[in-house]
Amino acid sequence: MNFRSFQFRITKWFVGFLALALLCVWVGVYLSVQQFLIASQKRNLNNAVYNIESQFLPEYGAKGEVWLADEMGDVYAGGADRYVRILHDGREIFNSHDMGNPQTPVEKIPLPTNEQAGLLHIDNRGGRLLELVDHYTSPDGQRFIVIVGASDASARRVLRSLAIILSIVCPLVLIVAALACFLMIKRPLRPVTELTEQAENIGRKHLGDRLPVPNTRDELQRLATSLNQMIARLEDALQHNNRFSADASHELRTPLTIVRGELEQVIQQPDLSEATVDSIGSALEEIERMSQIVQSLMATAYLDTGGEQMEREPTDLGKLVGSTLDQMRLLAESQNIVLSNEKLESALVDGNPTRLKQVVVNLVDNAIKYNRPNGRVSASVFSKDQTVILQVADDGIGIPEGSIPFIFDRFYRADKTRTRATGGIGIGLSLVKAICNAHGATIDVKSRQGHGTVFSVAFPRYLPETGTSEIRSPKTASVSTYVTTSH
Ligand code: ADP
Repeated sequence: MNFRSFQFRITKWFVGFLALALLCVWVGVYLSVQQFLIASQKRNLNNAVYNIESQFLPEYGAKGEVWLADEMGDVYAGGADRYVRILHDGREIFNSHDMGNPQTPVEKIPLPTNEQAGLLHIDNRGGRLLELVDHYTSPDGQRFIVIVGASDASARRVLRSLAIILSIVCPLVLIVAALACFLMIKRPLRPVTELTEQAENIGRKHLGDRLPVPNTRDELQRLATSLNQMIARLEDALQHNNRFSADASHELRTPLTIVRGELEQVIQQPDLSEATVDSIGSALEEIERMSQIVQSLMATAYLDTGGEQMEREPTDLGKLVGSTLDQMRLLAESQNIVLSNEKLESALVDGNPTRLKQVVVNLVDNAIKYNRPNGRVSASVFSKDQTVILQVADDGIGIPEGSIPFIFDRFYRADKTRTRATGGIGIGLSLVKAICNAHGATIDVKSRQGHGTVFSVAFPRYLPETGTSEIRSPKTASVSTYVTTSH
């Protein structure tokens, strides 16, 4: 489970607030019921005192103590959570005796003093007692003290049960609500996930694509619209950039051809000094290098804008790599590098053979160029799931960690100390990436400085049944973790 996901975080907040709310409910319900029970206990005591004083005590003078005990005994017998005592001139003339629960002998409860009246709270072994003491004078002038008391045992029993029920129900509600929230939140978040996936699929070459805008008039609609506007601006900037590169290289190509032609004519003249021939020779070399840059720039720009209509055909990548390696073996030997092919499976990709060859040549050329004497370079082609993987590995100097994100940029060279003769001009990999993008392929590099580099290109496999390749969303080159290459 992703603990940083929206789904989890929203659920976490929801559960936090719900737990707080349930705690308030728990405390609120408990206190309310407690207050209600105390109030009803007081009301019962008041009613009992009122009854005794209005029904029995006025007739005490006429009917006597036995009558009172009989009449009161019927109504206020022992065994309940309540007791009644009546004092007359300091003498106890009625006692309802034991309370049901707790079994507190009423005689052990201290009698109130003459000054005590109203509600008294008495601490007792079995809990607390609430006692109402009232001084009453009957119409015939007799003075009584009426004591009605009750234990809070039954109220405490109710409160204990309530606490247990609340302590079970609240966590249960919390768990069920958390689960429901976690599952239900997935639904409204689904459009966001879909939008993210669609946005990820709009790769560099496919910046022309747009996200579907849901007609929901909510944040999602705004987000999709804003993202589309941003993609449109990006596309514009990128096209402008590519157009500029394409136009500039196009404009440079003709003068370069003319200068080269002129210099080639001049160098043919017989009366030139050796120094002049050398100068013209090195000028021609530089012009050749510039022509290469211009050509690569043009190709990259056209591929990036999708301007170049590549002719594609089912191409056996294994065979193409094999023949390219054969052609490059001499170059490798001249640099004392062993060039080998690990595993060249015959695997079809839908591509342009010339461009695919450019990818192989550039990767292998780099692997030879950035190697050490007696180093090794190996290339392999194999199928994996729906892709055909081209891998070029070397045990050369490797790429510094900080440079890896930039090596696919135009004119970027990781090792600035290299001369343009021993290093390159920094355009090969940007062309490789542009070709990969145009083929819907992804390129990945793993490298460790001083140990070597592995470039892996994953092409969509050509499917003969449908005549198409399983084109995955073209992505810009990805840069992955740095691993030790085992060569
Ligand atoms: P260049 O023409 O300089 O070779 P590239 O675009 O082909 O330009 O490569 C960009 C930079 O990436 C190179 O300058 C080099 O520093 C680094 N690089 C590319 N391939 C390798 C490799 N196999 N080993 C080490 N460094 C490499």
